[in-house]
Amino acid sequence: MTEDIKSIFQEVQGLTESLTEEIIATRRHFHQYPELSWQEVKTSEMLVSQLQDAGLECQNGICGTGVTAHLRGDSGGRTIAVRADMDALPINDAKDVPYASRIPGAMHACGHDCHMAVALGVAKVLNQLSLPLPGNVKFIFQPCEEASPSGASELVKAGVMEGVDAILAFHVDPELPVGKIGLRKGLLTAHCTEFRLKIRGKSGHAARPHQAVDAIYLANQVLMAIYDSVNQRSRPFVPAVLTVGKMIGGSKANVIADLVELGGTIRTIDDRSLAEITTDIERKVAALTSAAGGSYEIEYPVPVPSVKNDASLINMVADVTASLWSEDRIKHLDKVSMGGEDFSWYLKKAPGALMRLGTKKPAGEVTFLHSGNFDVDERALPLGVVLMSMYILKYLLAERLPL
Ligand SMILES: [Zn+2]
Ligand SMILES: [Zn+2]
Repeated sequence: MTEDIKSIFQEVQGLTESLTEEIIATRRHFHQYPELSWQEVKTSEMLVSQLQDAGLECQNGICGTGVTAHLRGDSGGRTIAVRADMDALPINDAKDVPYASRIPGAMHACGHDCHMAVALGVAKVLNQLSLPLPGNVKFIFQPCEEASPSGASELVKAGVMEGVDAILAFHVDPELPVGKIGLRKGLLTAHCTEFRLKIRGKSGHAARPHQAVDAIYLANQVLMAIYDSVNQRSRPFVPAVLTVGKMIGGSKANVIADLVELGGTIRTIDDRSLAEITTDIERKVAALTSAAGGSYEIEYPVPVPSVKNDASLINMVADVTASLWSEDRIKHLDKVSMGGEDFSWYLKKAPGALMRLGTKKPAGEVTFLHSGNFDVDERALPLGVVLMSMYILKYLLAERLPL
């Protein structure tokens, strides 16, 4: 058995090269046929068919559309998981490319098509490797990263992390050049709390507001007040963001509305800020609605906790990257992202690392995540397969595989 890192690396590169066309075709297939959160039925079927064709033991229908697959070594050893999310966003694809989405109102605008294609590539490469696997690899294909209830929290409740010692994942990064990987130890993403707020008034004729409680007027006051909560309650140097992304109310121009519904999100990086902001919001909403003779209801669906990357796994990833490629490949991320990632639920069960995979084309404008013109430089995909395969092998071989 060869346990020389350079020869394993060469074999992984060779296997990946022979699979590159297939990896890109798979990504394009997912890109053309995106499915929204919790509706990833065809996506799940495609994953199962590719995993079974590659000879992997696999389980589907987990929490609906979730899929897991296993590669088991002969001699026990540790188990490392790789997570790929599966869902698309309710956005129209605005790109003019042959692989643009064929489904109106759905698009892989967050790169989850790439995450699945890379994870499938890793499964095939590791399965074909001549080196007997010195441990086990579990592939977790997760529904619904983009909506609530989060797919990760549901899969964790269903037990997918049982027996898993560590977990890794990539997220594409359209601002990071292709060829680079973004790493950060500890806190990587914000804690995200959604809120759904109903402001109730009393309907009446538009000509006689004194007989009614105008929920639209009241919601407007509430909106101003809650945006101020972040300005007034968050501490300097501790980032916090509040955005109201949805506001629905009223039915007719000459009828005073009795109900307005608001939906928003609060992002913070510590629990204390979050508690202070939510307390302040409720105090203001209660005061304003009761002063006007209205009422309110507020709900917070299950929040998405912060991703906190394990420092020793990030060190391992950085060592593998620097010794097999070069230090230049690594971008050390100095700031926490105010975005959310439900990868954090897996980290409640085992240490893990979420890494940014650079997908920015060398020329041209950045196409941002969650936008209709989002796209990736597909050269990132085979590179992602080689990187992830080597991280997994290093983890499983540990000290037996000196760099
Ligand atoms: Zn997203
Ligand atoms: Zn995403």
